[in-house]
Amino acid sequence: MKFAATLAACAALCAGGGALAADWSVIHAGRLLAQPGAPALEAQTIIIRDGEIVSVEPGYKDASAIGAAAGDKVAEIDLKDYFVLPGLIDCHVHLTGENNPQGRLQAVELSDPDRALWAAANARKTLLAGFTTVRNVGAGGGDAIFALRDGIAKGYVEGPRIFAAGSGISVTGGHGDGTQGYRDDVAEVLHSPGVCDGVAECRKAVREQVRRGADHIKLTATAGVLSNTAAGLEQQFFDDELEAIMTTAHAMGRKVTAHAHGVNGINAALRAGGDSIEHGTYLDAESIRLFKRRGAYLVPTILAGVTVAEWAADPDTFLTPPSRAKAAEVGPLMLDMARRAHAGGVKIAFGTDSGVSKHGENAREFALLVEAGMTPMQAIRTATVAAADNIGQSAHLGTIEAGKHADIIAVGGDPLSDVRELEDVDFVMKAGAVYKTPDAD
Ligand SMILES: [Zn+2]
Repeated sequence: MKFAATLAACAALCAGGGALAADWSVIHAGRLLAQPGAPALEAQTIIIRDGEIVSVEPGYKDASAIGAAAGDKVAEIDLKDYFVLPGLIDCHVHLTGENNPQGRLQAVELSDPDRALWAAANARKTLLAGFTTVRNVGAGGGDAIFALRDGIAKGYVEGPRIFAAGSGISVTGGHGDGTQGYRDDVAEVLHSPGVCDGVAECRKAVREQVRRGADHIKLTATAGVLSNTAAGLEQQFFDDELEAIMTTAHAMGRKVTAHAHGVNGINAALRAGGDSIEHGTYLDAESIRLFKRRGAYLVPTILAGVTVAEWAADPDTFLTPPSRAKAAEVGPLMLDMARRAHAGGVKIAFGTDSGVSKHGENAREFALLVEAGMTPMQAIRTATVAAADNIGQSAHLGTIEAGKHADIIAVGGDPLSDVRELEDVDFVMKAGAVYKTPDAD
């Protein structure tokens, strides 16, 4: 009897719009690519309750027939003229900045709160471009990236869900050590908590990122293009250091992704147990064998290559001389690298290195993946099913099916015939909340 009374009280509360009322959305999708890799279907209904997908059903189901209780909120969303697909995932962004001619000055001018607010603006652009999830792989600005991740999750600001590495793990003077070219006392202030040398320090640097709140670990196995050092592009961590980073991260339940251009660094990171490789410029047949043996993902960031090659060719470039030389060397190679990896059967996850290129232009990577030999469907898969797997979120993200977060976007044309349709996203929903609608333009 007591139980029945409680239920009655609850029903009364809910009917009055109380806290227990559910929030439903019913999307009528003209074409739906619910599971990239499988064919798109015509005329489908997606039913969403409290941010989670309840079901996907054939035909246009009436909102009154979904089983909502009296007092529940039900939104009907008409996307009958649109192509609907899962929210996109970018596995390689840097939200706390964006490359520009003032970058080296900004490193000493901007406070951590300045960075956090800049990052918030970049996050909003990214979300409105259809990217409902990102993996941030290295951030300046102290704890700004963690504050942004948590602030977005709490609804303080609009942005994609963020999985954040905190500071990248780097050797002293290496690609993730941003102090090159500054006077010593300034370098001391700029010193990153991810800089480490030797096995013991490497272990500690990883643990330090986990303590700060890192969802995964990012390390720079080799030199990189935009660091201000003429030290080639090859392996920087020694094998024992790489192994210390991987085993420490894995012991704490964190995946590890390694920035790597030079082939020795790529192969050493894979042998040491890396879960994914960022860039991969000089990968060879042995790398492809190691990728497949490990089941590791490649995040090719072709857009970053295109962007830095353009800067290097500009006679008035803002790049420092070492960066310009490396950009001219690496940039033009990345498309062919992605082509070789894809042809060789390496698993590829979508990533742009946005922050090098402009935030919000992430979808430009799709056309480059197609140029590298993928079908549009394969390219879309890299940013949905494969990206979700790469970041360990397949249970929640990457497809539109029951039990997953309602991260859903729509475009006007058919991205399976022209993948560049994804550069103009008309509708964005994240966790059931709508951030962009077709009539907003
Ligand atoms: Zn990067």
